[in-house]
Amino acid sequence: MATGTLTIDLDALAANWRALNSKSDSAVETGAVVKADGYGLGAARVARALARAGAQTFFVAAAEEGAAVREALGRNAEIYVFGGHMAGDTDMIHDLDLIPLLNSINQLTRHIEALPGAPFGLQLDSGMNRLGLEPAEWSAVRDLALSLSPRLIMSHLASADEPDSAQNGDQLRQFLEMTDGTSARRSLSATGGTLLGPQYHFDLTRPGIGLYGGLPFAEAKPVARVSLPVIQTRLVAPGEVVGYNATWTAPEERLIATVAGGYADGLLRALSGTGQLWHDGVSCPIVGRVSMDLITVDISSLSEIPQAMDILCPEQGVDDVASAAGTIGYEVLTSLGGRYERKTIGGLA
Ligand SMILES: *Cc1c(COP(=O)(O)O)cnc(C)c1O
Repeated sequence: MATGTLTIDLDALAANWRALNSKSDSAVETGAVVKADGYGLGAARVARALARAGAQTFFVAAAEEGAAVREALGRNAEIYVFGGHMAGDTDMIHDLDLIPLLNSINQLTRHIEALPGAPFGLQLDSGMNRLGLEPAEWSAVRDLALSLSPRLIMSHLASADEPDSAQNGDQLRQFLEMTDGTSARRSLSATGGTLLGPQYHFDLTRPGIGLYGGLPFAEAKPVARVSLPVIQTRLVAPGEVVGYNATWTAPEERLIATVAGGYADGLLRALSGTGQLWHDGVSCPIVGRVSMDLITVDISSLSEIPQAMDILCPEQGVDDVASAAGTIGYEVLTSLGGRYERKTIGGLA
């Protein structure tokens, strides 16, 4: 069976890192978030390309994800773990030289007992109520924690992709209140916060989605291209139906292409009847249901039968696909799955 091709542009990735780096003062370090297998694009190749662009500090969600990144980068890179130090993580944290971002008193205790003297960072909750020590917990352990010289104190913004949200200023004030007067390095911002302005930058920014070409970094260059081979074409007569449950009926004679790729490849079923595939700058509507392995497209407007059609391409980025499916670019990227033939362009030193 034919499979789609996922092409990852490592030069665009590096350019996005440099562009986000240039949003902050040169005293501010720009890290790189490579969790979820580098937002679905391959943690090892992504981390290597970002390191070549200049990134030195990397973030993953779980200790397990640190292995591929450490192997790709060697000893020098700093790798932080957002999930902190979970039971069972001790050997991985030690052997892979990971820095857990401890997010509870429980984790702080575990880390100090299991790996005394080993580096760690702290995650504070400034109002998102997802991960991190709450203000009262922080007050209780602050002196002890600071006496152990945390490498980083961080928090995370819940609404940074909405620049006008009052929650941004509220969280900034809370973070300042919790951390002013400490000498540890601080980090508050992911992609969205990096774009909110210098007061949100602190010592280190942690962009993820913007590196991979997604909003809220509107200037981002597209990094992923997905092309799906055409397996078969057919003319359907007026009144004929296409796909599962016959949700689309041809209003007149139409030329339908069936392409290899479906919801098992992260091409969300919600694109049924709303998404578009592209060929040579022309968009063609998805007709009928997206199925597990196949998508049917009305290519009547094309002047030739293409060998393949694009779902991610310069004309249609991850956020365009996301909005057709009622989701966000993050979900489109991280859903892409294991069935594509993966290629990279650029990125060679
Ligand atoms: C995922 C994540 C990031 C990166 O966020 P983007 O919006 O992708 O830039 C940064 N910090 C934390 C804590 C995260 O969970």
